[in-house]
This record gives sequence, structure tokens and C-alpha cells, in this order.
Amino acid sequence: MRSQDYDRLYLSPPHLGRHELNYVHKAIEDNWVAPIGPNLTGFEADICQYTGAAYCVALSSGTAAIHLGLLLLGVGPGDEVLCPSFTFVATANPILYLGATPVFVDSEPDTWNLCPQRLREAILDRIAQGNKPKVLLLVHLYGMPARLPEILAIAAEFDIPILEDAAEALGSCFNKQQLGTFGKIALFSFNGNKILTTSGGGALVTNDAELAFRARFLATQAKDEAPHYQHSELGYNYRLSNILAGIGRGQMELLDDRVKRRREIFAWYQEHLAGLPGLRLAPAPELPGSRSNRWLTTVLLNPAETSCTPEALRLHLETHNVESRPLWKPMHLQPLYEQAPMYGGEVCAGLFEQGLCLPSGTAMTEADLLRVAEGIREVVR
Ligand SMILES: *Cc1c(COP(=O)(O)O)cnc(C)c1O
Repeated sequence: MRSQDYDRLYLSPPHLGRHELNYVHKAIEDNWVAPIGPNLTGFEADICQYTGAAYCVALSSGTAAIHLGLLLLGVGPGDEVLCPSFTFVATANPILYLGATPVFVDSEPDTWNLCPQRLREAILDRIAQGNKPKVLLLVHLYGMPARLPEILAIAAEFDIPILEDAAEALGSCFNKQQLGTFGKIALFSFNGNKILTTSGGGALVTNDAELAFRARFLATQAKDEAPHYQHSELGYNYRLSNILAGIGRGQMELLDDRVKRRREIFAWYQEHLAGLPGLRLAPAPELPGSRSNRWLTTVLLNPAETSCTPEALRLHLETHNVESRPLWKPMHLQPLYEQAPMYGGEVCAGLFEQGLCLPSGTAMTEADLLRVAEGIREVVR
């Protein structure tokens, strides 16, 4: 069997529905190509309605939303920002854009997200060194809610505002409350690989009217109230276009379906990969109150129980023209961040060594899933 006999199975390709084109078509018909327009305001309203956030500002990317979020929470040169090491680099980079320093913290094994003990240790140590962290960047990786009760309590105890990176967690919730509504500011990403996409885009959400106003202002070149072009502050060109927001409106109609399907795919793999030596689906189970959107299904291979490594499995799946990927490489192991302070590190380094992301796109058929599972069974024995 040659790989060319198949269509390639991607990790998480865009999955469009039937209404995106209508919104885009309407925008072009009405000449709402620029600047902002009804799709943008409609998309923002859809996000507010779904998540329960009071305000939403649609932006050109999730990264832009992190940049603005940090800025709005007062981060500047010399400041320190707490951040999980186990995340995608886009979480941490805006800390450097602002001349601040990331302080990386290890994961805990149940959710793969911020370890509350390590977090407390990091905060106490930074305070002892005379630099209290300015913001806590909280990530819900692969859609799995972080340990919110513990982390919210620590943030409150030390009075550190949370910027919630829910880029991968749209549609996930904790105690029926949507992720992206726990931080002072939160963000979603609509990049091409996320659970919903606008081809590229992001959104900043908050319950604070002033912060939302400031986000809009800074995202549109910080133009003062004047008929001429007057600027007192440094601004950015970070707004999402009305065309792309049209894709977003169509996508938002599908969010419940997409979450349901991602969770079904996780459950399917769990059932069909059960009993393979040394292989388990993780992070699982969900903690009480947590509901993950299961953006990506990920597996861990325990070297004590199987000789198959994640890289051997990845290469084998390639022979079936199936894409799989290592988990995010922790930030403290990245050349870019080797100078940054790090608290702990063994947990996320271990996950990186043992993990692999499987194709999890919501358009996958039963035959597609079987193809992945058979490929896995051929090498994990
Ligand atoms: C995708 C992602 C981002 C960045 O979003 P973009 O829209 O691609 O800029 C940030 N954080 C995490 C955890 C992500 O997965």
C-alpha cells in the first residue's frame, strides 16, 4: 500500500459549514470589505452570546490578543509574567514583545496545565527576589481546563490578574462556565488549526467595559477623537477584517457540533486503542466539573511498557499518509527561552518525550479513524 493511494489525514484541518460563504458573499455584495462592518459586530456578539463574556474585540490573531491583553494589564519593560512552559510559543512571545520576562512554571500530570504548587513556589520566589509577577498567563492546553479552583485562589491571594489563553479551549467549560471567562481578560484563536477558524484571527474577551474600549482603541492605531489623524499613544493594526469575520459567523453556528464531534473522536480512539501496551489517551479523565472540547486527541507512550517511541509511531503513520505531531515542546527547552527562569520542568519535559497528537479533525469519517487506529496497532504491540 502506498501513501499516494490515500488522501492525507491532517491533524486538525479547517472544517467549514454551509453558511460561511453567505456571510462573506454578503460582505462583498454590500462593499463591507473594509473597514469594520456587520460581520465583525455580529461575530463579536456571537462570541459573547456563546461564552457569556460581556465584551469581545475580534482581532487579526490570538497572538495579537495576547499582546494587547498583556499591555492592557500594564506589562512593560522589566516586568515578569508567569507562564506555563508547556504551551505553544505564541503564548510566551508577546511577553518579549513588551520587553518583559517570562517566568516559566511546570505542568501537573492530570491536566497538563499549570501546577498550582509550582506556581505558588514561583510567585513566592519572585517576590523574595523583589519582583512580584505582574500577570499570570493561564493556558488551557489542548482544550483541557486547567486546575481552576486552586489557580484562581492563588491569583487572588497574591492579587495577580489572569490573562487566560483559551486559544485551544473555545467551547470547553468548568462547572458549566465557559473557559475564557475566568481571567480579567481572555483570548481565543481562530487560526486554521483551531476548533473553529476564520482562516486567521483571534478575539479578546473581557467583562470590563473600559478594557474592551481600550483594546478596540489600541487595535486600530490608537487614533484620538479628532477629525484629523491625531495620536497620543502607540497603537497597533490588529483588527479582524469584516470578510474574515463572515467566516467566523458561519463557524460560530457550528461550535456545539464541533465540540460534540471532537469529544466523540476522543472517545472513539479511547475505545479502539484500549488495551494496547504502554499506550494511553491523555489527559484523562477529566477532573470533576471540567469539560474539555478535546481539540486534539493525544496519546502517551510509556517506555517501560512499549518499545515504540512517539517518533517511531509518527514515522509509521506517515507511511499511511497520516499526519501526527509531537506535543508542544516546552518553552524552557526552547533556545529562544533558555535564559528565562523556570520552576520545575520534569513533568512537561516528560510529556513532550512521551506524547503524540493524533488526527482529530471534525470532518474525519469512521474509515479515517480506522486507518489511524490500524496504523497505531501495527507498531504498538
Ligand atoms: C494558536 C495558539 C495561540 C495563538 O493564536 P494565533 O491565532 O495563531 O496567533 C496562542 N496560544 C495557544 C495555546 C495556541 O494554541
